[in-house]
Parts: sequence; structure tokens; C-alpha cells
Amino acid sequence: MKVVFWGVRGSIPCPGLQTVKYGGNTACIELCLDELDYSLIIDAGSGIRELGYQLVKQQNKNLDIRIFLTHTHMDHISGLPFFLPIYMPDSKIRIYGPVSHEQATLENVVGGLMDYRYFPIRKEELAAKIEYVSLKEEHLDLGDGLILTTKFLNHPILCLGYRFEYQDKIVCTTYDTEPFRNLFSLDPKDPNYDEELVRDGEEAARELNAQLEEFYRGADLLIHDCQYTKVEYDADKQDWGHSWFEYVCSAAARAGVKKLALFHHDPTRSDVQLEELEKIHCSSNRYGNIEIFCAREGMKVVL
Ligand SMILES: [Zn+2]
Ligand SMILES: [Zn+2]
Repeated sequence: MKVVFWGVRGSIPCPGLQTVKYGGNTACIELCLDELDYSLIIDAGSGIRELGYQLVKQQNKNLDIRIFLTHTHMDHISGLPFFLPIYMPDSKIRIYGPVSHEQATLENVVGGLMDYRYFPIRKEELAAKIEYVSLKEEHLDLGDGLILTTKFLNHPILCLGYRFEYQDKIVCTTYDTEPFRNLFSLDPKDPNYDEELVRDGEEAARELNAQLEEFYRGADLLIHDCQYTKVEYDADKQDWGHSWFEYVCSAAARAGVKKLALFHHDPTRSDVQLEELEKIHCSSNRYGNIEIFCAREGMKVVL
């Protein structure tokens, strides 16, 4: 099993001299599995554009592609209109993902990107055969020995974590997400303060975070949201739906993860800053026997 990172940023593409090393494209990961006769892609951020050219170069006919969207925020779907295989009449593309609004289907939300107001080509004009599959929390046998388990994460819209199991190897994605926390007022002077509710809130948050650790327990590779540092998160980033270095590294170590790829880097983070953060969190045994690194565009991880 091989994992290739085509885009590792969160929020918005950020090309430039400051982001050459880690890359400026948004979320897109390719999962290469030995005996599958289709391509498996997680997310269609701006990184999928380059991957599209690569796939067509390798095979210019009858492409079979499955894209698993974690959610429909722009940084995870904005590359789709620029993904060359969608314009090829003999390609077959199946797009999986959670819906972001009860009234709208996955097809409406994702296909809506190709409305004439935003883009010159309409979804009715796409040549490929495109199918949409809505997912919730479930356990699926995808055939050919590939098993998928999905889990809802903690993000402002429905967002799925994916756990792929194939030939004794496990790859998990848990982004975009932040740790669950107690939502009741902790201030005894607050008129809404209720000691019992605070206790229940603590317990619920602890339980949900433990469930998430169970979801990625024992993963050979965990790709986790890691947009902020603890200081940045505490300052003004709570409830934005993203995690911080210290928490992610400790939680992955507790769950017995073997390799941890820190992912969804903040678009304002320069190469120099990411190198500094890697020095602090990735190069020592600070979190025990786990290999930790910042995901980089173009990086390949063989499991
Ligand atoms: Zn995102
Ligand atoms: Zn998001």
C-alpha cells in the first residue's frame, strides 16, 4: 500500500516562495493499492488537478476513479472542475461523501460548483460518467479485500473520517476536526452554571474523544488535522473545527498509531515555521515510539 500526498494545506491554496517545501495545494491524497483496478483518491482540493494529469498520462482511456470526500468545504472540492478525467467520455468516476445540508444531495452540493456563475462548463456537459454515493457512519466492504469504516468528526459541517483496511494495513484520515470539549459554562459566576451539567459535559467530551482514538487505534498511517499550535488554538481558534500539534501527537501515541502525518497546514504557515514545528514535535521521542512528520506535497509513504 502506498499513500501519495498531492495537496496538504487547509483553507485555501497558498502558492509562493514561502511554501515551496511543503506545498501550497489543498487536500488531496492518493491511496495506491496493489491489486485494485481503479484509482482511489481522498478529497478533491486543488492538489487533484496535478493528479488528474498524472492519471491520464498513465492511462488515457477507460479510467475508473473513486473519490472519497471528507466533506464539502471549498478546500476539499475546489479542484474537481480542473480534474481532467471528468472531461473524458470513457472515464467512470464515483464520488463518495457526506451531505452538508439535509435539503441538498451530494450531487447538488458538489455539482453546484459547476454552475455557470462560478465556472464556464456546466455539470451536464461533463463527459465522464459520474455517480454520487452518500455516506454516513458505516462499515463497508468495498470488494477486492478493501474494508472501509467511516466516522463523523467534530467540524462545523458533517465531516467523515475514513479508515481503510487492506492486506493487513490500516490507513486512517481524521480531518477536518478538533477535539470534543465541554460546551457548558465552566464559570460558577455564570447564571447558567450547573455543576451537574458541567460534569456530564466533561464526561461526554471524554467519551467522544476516546471513541475517535478507538477509530484510528493501531493505524499504520494516521493522517490528522493539525492546523494550529496550542497557543493559536487557545487564543481565538476554538470551534473552528481544527486541531493542534500537542493534542494530535499525544492522542495518536495513546492509540498506538505507527506513523502520524500532520496534515491540513494553516495557509499562513511558512516552510521555515513548519520546519521549526517539526523540530519540536517530530524529531524527538517526546511522544514515545511513533514516527511523526508534517505531510508534504509530493511525499510518498509506503506501508
Ligand atoms: Zn479543510
Ligand atoms: Zn472544513
